[in-house]
Amino acid sequence: DQVYLNGEYLPLADAKVSVLDRGFLFGDGVYEVIPVYRGRLFRFDDHITRLNASLRAIRLDVNKTVAEWRAIFSPMLDSSKDQYIYLQITRGYAPKRDHGFPEQVLPTVFAMCSEMKPFAGRATGVKALTLEDTRWRMCNVKAITLLANLLLRQEALDQDCAEAILVRNGYVTEGAASNLFAVIDDELITPPKSNEILPGITRDVILELAEANQIRCREEVIAVEALQDASEIWVTSSTREIVPVTELDGMMVGSGKPGQVYRKMDQLFQAYKQSSA
Ligand code: PLP
Repeated sequence: DQVYLNGEYLPLADAKVSVLDRGFLFGDGVYEVIPVYRGRLFRFDDHITRLNASLRAIRLDVNKTVAEWRAIFSPMLDSSKDQYIYLQITRGYAPKRDHGFPEQVLPTVFAMCSEMKPFAGRATGVKALTLEDTRWRMCNVKAITLLANLLLRQEALDQDCAEAILVRNGYVTEGAASNLFAVIDDELITPPKSNEILPGITRDVILELAEANQIRCREEVIAVEALQDASEIWVTSSTREIVPVTELDGMMVGSGKPGQVYRKMDQLFQAYKQSSA
């Protein structure tokens, strides 16, 4: 399987970057994860728009159009399966390790395509736990600098949970690698976009589907106590789609099974996925 690196396609084992690459030394870069269902790039314009916002936020210039990105990814796609593209752009090689940006920036652009298998927890529901959100205040940027997210996810895994749900100032923000939805008093609620969450593409799709299908839905902050009383909790992301949380901090959520609103939304999401180019 070929990967893309700086204008070339080559076997993964042959894709090499310098140890002086600022991605390696500083985590100085951004990324995207784009689902590809049977060869069709899902919500492609939205992913590229978010990528451009991330690049602007870190002051990195990569002028490629949506069509150019599409042309880069096309040779790696296989229409007989579901896949996802991992795209990473760093500030590239610099002659010495210096925090300040180098004079000449030649970004490193890397993309690979992997098979996407359905996440098992989607059918059964998963356990989650709440943890203090230790991340920085630019969570809206999809930065490759993920150490806080990794530590939080691992803490969850260590406690036999699939995800950590993060709390800042008494309010839940999102998961360590997902956005958050809750059904509270028969209303679907998700925290509003801000610098404290990543603006998830899956999140956008769910909000659109709720609107189009008369599911009461609101973007509103959620206190951690309100989450503990929710009848349903979901975490959402491109690679796992919509995952019901059936146990939070050792307590059953609702009936302890994936809820009714979840089942409805998952149906809508699967149908939308099949139909969208
Ligand atoms: N929030 C964080 C911190 C993430 O890492 C992700 C994606 O993995 C998401 C939210 C969900 O975003 P998307 O639906 O675009 O995959």
